[in-house]
Amino acid sequence: SAASESFDRQAVIDLEAIRDNIRQFLQVAEPARVMAVVKADGYGHGALPVARAALEAGASWLGVAHITEALALRAAGIEAPVLAWLHTPDSDFAAAITASIDIGISGWELEHVAAAAKEVQRPARVQLKIDTGLGRNGCPPDRWEELIGQASAFQEEGLLRVVGVFSHLAVADEPHRPETDEQIDRFREAVAVAEDAGMDLEVRHLANTPGTLSRPDAHFDMVRVGLGTYGLSPFENERPEDLKLRPAMTLRAKVANCKRVPEGQGVSYGLRYRTEGPSTLVLVPMGYGDGIPRNASGAQVAIGGKRYDVVGRVAMDQFVVDLRTAEAPDLVGEEVILFGAGEDVPGAADWAAASGTINYEIVTRISPRVPRVYL
Ligand code: PLP
Repeated sequence: SAASESFDRQAVIDLEAIRDNIRQFLQVAEPARVMAVVKADGYGHGALPVARAALEAGASWLGVAHITEALALRAAGIEAPVLAWLHTPDSDFAAAITASIDIGISGWELEHVAAAAKEVQRPARVQLKIDTGLGRNGCPPDRWEELIGQASAFQEEGLLRVVGVFSHLAVADEPHRPETDEQIDRFREAVAVAEDAGMDLEVRHLANTPGTLSRPDAHFDMVRVGLGTYGLSPFENERPEDLKLRPAMTLRAKVANCKRVPEGQGVSYGLRYRTEGPSTLVLVPMGYGDGIPRNASGAQVAIGGKRYDVVGRVAMDQFVVDLRTAEAPDLVGEEVILFGAGEDVPGAADWAAASGTINYEIVTRISPRVPRVYL
């Protein structure tokens, strides 16, 4: 639905910001292509609207973790290339092949995919993933030649086509660390092995958002941009504006209560906070049931262009802001911005710092209970 001024609580998603961010990454990555990563419901922004906006702006691929996420894109009519990279033996490989979804393969999946291809009588498009150092998914380097051999054999049988080789960076958000150099070297070697085996690769890709921004030598044919698509910075000491990015999500609510209290008033469960003088407390109708971290006291919100502190424990549906004055007007119904874009309001990174996590988690965890509206 579209944004209007009538709302209790909402996440406003600025699709023009998404398009601007993608255009920025196209410039940074050029001549490499851009894959917009839209897993986890587009990091909480809505996978479908984000995918459409990203493709409009020039992204040529979409990336997700699960085949179910890729199938949802196809069911909505999205025909662009999609890669899904995280599976279990119960994943629906046959459906992925039928829907022309590229399947990321780290090892055991290969036989399952070949069997599924036989069943649906159509070759699978696969992309082989090498673990160049992250130690998470991906084929260990010492098994890579074996995987390439197996994949070649299935390719000769006509059951699949290897169209890509990829890997994932571990420390690209800390650009000075040497491990990224090692990962890039290992990736080059892995690509060479695949090409020497006669594989006709369409794409070779390694870089996530921080890798795209800080390591041109990691761009290869394509960059996979998740966080940056949403206009957030992957670097602790750089704000989105420093990177020419625009945060796409503004999380906002209307004030649900506003009351004068005496000095020493305890606030929320556990009474972990007490007012330091006569004050005014404002109640915001969002809590951990909406995906706000329970331990976010120390974060700030913006009301009427000013910043105020979140105090006491965040509850399931609500939290309290101390205006630290007894002179405030009645603010019931006024807009409270938890985070958004620009200098005037806190960012997702500020909420992350206050609650001991990263901006990725702050936006991704905003629950379906919060209506998304699109600009
Ligand atoms: N590529 C893979 C394989 C991922 O798992 C992710 C997300 O974690 C990304 C790319 C996008 O990373 P970022 O959000 O840092 O751009």
